[in-house]
Amino acid sequence: MSKTSKHNFGAGPCILPQTVLKQAADAVEHWDKAGLSILEISHRSPEFEAVIRNTEALVRELLDVPEDYSVLFLQGGASLQFCMVPMNFSQGSPKTAVYLDGGYFGQKAIKEAKLFGKVETIDWKQSKTYTIPGSAAYFHCTSNNTIEGTEMFSFPETPVPVICDMSSDIFSRKIDVSRFALIYAGAQKNMGPAGMTLVIAKNTFLDSVKHPLPSMLDYRVYRDNGSLYNTPPVFAIYTAMLNLQWLKKKGGVNLIARENLCKAQALYDEIDRNPLFEGLAPAADRSLMNVTFKIRNEALEPHFLDFAARRGLVGIRGYRTVGGFRASLYNALPYESVTALVNALRDFSNDQAL
Ligand code: PLP
Repeated sequence: MSKTSKHNFGAGPCILPQTVLKQAADAVEHWDKAGLSILEISHRSPEFEAVIRNTEALVRELLDVPEDYSVLFLQGGASLQFCMVPMNFSQGSPKTAVYLDGGYFGQKAIKEAKLFGKVETIDWKQSKTYTIPGSAAYFHCTSNNTIEGTEMFSFPETPVPVICDMSSDIFSRKIDVSRFALIYAGAQKNMGPAGMTLVIAKNTFLDSVKHPLPSMLDYRVYRDNGSLYNTPPVFAIYTAMLNLQWLKKKGGVNLIARENLCKAQALYDEIDRNPLFEGLAPAADRSLMNVTFKIRNEALEPHFLDFAARRGLVGIRGYRTVGGFRASLYNALPYESVTALVNALRDFSNDQAL
């Protein structure tokens, strides 16, 4: 833990290991042989071509992306995907797009989808018993609900194309990419700085789009131009490459998944044991990335925030619509930070009992 980062439980944008931050900072000062900064190099240079292809290769290796899938780097955040998905895959179609409503971000996606075609929504609580109609254009879900602190641990078996917003848990655990027609993720949690969106899509699904689209909203344009149709977010892609190299060196997604499970387990155990605190998400759906909880006596909330801040624990205030606390346990957060939070919960509770 460095002096500047403290114990950062913030939900983003972007939690990166100190070594990656240092490498990125060095590259801003001086990167290529001519002494140029990474910010100054041409995105058409062979050097940047190597960076973007290396980043793609790391994504493919770490997530076991099948060969018939494209790996694309876009801009506009996950929020642009909320409209790009229906623009491509339901616009003009008589078919209904089915959306799982897991909360805040799922609802934003639903709002955009309604602008382009018919939408049916499934409430999160019904999701385990619901059957997706075989005639649907696609099924859209959010694998991790960053704000509510719930996560999907299984995905529906369906012949319908499955599209998933994995913004806040991609690279945190192994996923079977072949089960999805398209995955998207704003990079800024476990991948790299804000400014880049990762899309992984099955080529035949992309080729099923027959209507004309503006170039910047057409996935095939990114695919056919190697994500270099226009100026890409060079620094975001470069830093994501450094971060994925860090993840690979560390042991890859399987190893980080075990660490993430241990971190979340330690925190949930303390929340369940401690009579002062209470978890907010249903036990079976508890996210391993964003732990939401509250203090039973709400009047103590600001006191706990002060107590935690004095111990260098930052970013634990809950999202405004949910309240309480949220501790984000992204890949780069070390176990020692979770221990520090667990100790704070315990010590604060003991102080109250005095
Ligand atoms: N989807 C999820 C699950 C998120 O967590 C976020 C942001 O935190 C978004 C979408 C929105 O992403 P962006 O800000 O990149 O548009």
